[in-house]
Amino acid sequence: MKPCQAVAFLDRDGVLIEDVHYLSRPDQLRLRPGVPRALRELQRLGFRLAVVTNQSGVARGYLSLAQLHRVHRLLALRLQQEGVYGLEFLVCPHHPSERCGCRKPGTFLALQYFRRHPEVCRGIVVGDRASDMAFAQRLGFPGFCVGTCGLYNAPEIVGSFPGLPEVVQWLKQHPGFPS
Ligand SMILES: [Mg+2]
Ligand SMILES: [Zn+2]
Repeated sequence: MKPCQAVAFLDRDGVLIEDVHYLSRPDQLRLRPGVPRALRELQRLGFRLAVVTNQSGVARGYLSLAQLHRVHRLLALRLQQEGVYGLEFLVCPHHPSERCGCRKPGTFLALQYFRRHPEVCRGIVVGDRASDMAFAQRLGFPGFCVGTCGLYNAPEIVGSFPGLPEVVQWLKQHPGFPS
């Protein structure tokens, strides 16, 4: 039996890139400090990388799906230039009122991911909002909060960190996490 792999479900806005209100143009894209290196280290620790992001700006008409994909292609390219490959994007473009199953904390996108990657059976969630931590809780994954996450509190939340680099520091000090 192959060993079971881990995934890091990463929020986009406020974790990988600076949170810009309904970002639609590539020139608004700014990586947060230390992110490329932190992602390389996560991969070295054995994590697959997947961005899980609520983008209701599409449903609200602030940007088109094509624009969103353009932004994500550019983000992937920037990261490739820094040696980060294989990032997957799981996107909910719906409005909260649509009550879809894919908007975090909904787990539909994650469940689809597990179907595509049966080798993955454990993982973590890194996010900056209460919805990210609730997403972690619903998956039964440990949640790493960047900032305060709306003061969300649950036993599954490992702690609050200034950014992704500090989360990775913590993981390096806890080899094999999560088991
Ligand atoms: Mg966010
Ligand atoms: Zn959705």
